[in-house]
Amino acid sequence: MFRKLTLIILGLLLVIFAIFFATATDNTQNNGIVSPLVNNAKKLIPYRFSKNKSATNRSQKVPILLYHYIREVDKTTDPTGWNLSVSPENFALQLSYLKSQNYQTLSFEDIDYLIENKQNFPTKPIILTFDDGYDDFYTNAFPIIKTNNFLATVFMIGGKIDQSNYLSADQIKILNNYGIEFGLHTQTHINMTNASDSNIKKELTENSNILQSITGKYSNILAYPSGQFDQELIDLLYKTDIKYGLTTVEQTADFSIHNLLILPRLRVRGSTTLEKFKELLNNQDGYLIVPTTTTNIN
Ligand SMILES: [Zn+2]
Repeated sequence: MFRKLTLIILGLLLVIFAIFFATATDNTQNNGIVSPLVNNAKKLIPYRFSKNKSATNRSQKVPILLYHYIREVDKTTDPTGWNLSVSPENFALQLSYLKSQNYQTLSFEDIDYLIENKQNFPTKPIILTFDDGYDDFYTNAFPIIKTNNFLATVFMIGGKIDQSNYLSADQIKILNNYGIEFGLHTQTHINMTNASDSNIKKELTENSNILQSITGKYSNILAYPSGQFDQELIDLLYKTDIKYGLTTVEQTADFSIHNLLILPRLRVRGSTTLEKFKELLNNQDGYLIVPTTTTNIN
């Protein structure tokens, strides 16, 4: 009898501890921002939302899709490249499906605005993200995104701008004028889990400065190169202006629950058929992500 009671009390204590720690982590995120980055850009208010300050209790679950290349690749000669690529044909089918289901694409600037103004998220929100900043985003993905009147976020490797196979500064300008959002992916695609603090800050500052010099906008979003992150990195980022950290952990993001520096994404692969794509959108698995070192291709 006493043993049972002790167990129950211990269990209750554990739950209380868990809640306490979850809350403590959230507080760290909102306080004590010391920025190694330069923040000159004015905060922009998205034009898509009216200024209605009603409180919200609508779901803040948002599938964040992860793409790399939008191109045709031969599966037999380059299986890795093939799985990192979605064909323009499949990409068009996927976006048509999203359109037919009344999905509304959001940028992280939109998310910021909705959270800060306590506004309802759209009924069917979705975020399209593209890692690395390949030039096929401009030639293949952008026309399809535009046709559907959608938005997207590109995580650009700073040092690759104007290099072969990557977006040029001129292309970034055109995309930026349309409303495509640009985020950080470090200057040289470093493994952020084994770099020194000073190197991480240098990589982020350079990446941020070059993007801001082209777009005129300051970016506080970061996709971890190769999806690599750990607790030490997250602790370092708490002390910067970086507000949203994108992983390659595969879950639907929930902005009301997930640590904003450890947001999961749903990877769309070369092998993702339209049926699998529909299943991805219904992936409601998991509420907790434990910070851990992870390794993934690109
Ligand atoms: Zn990458």
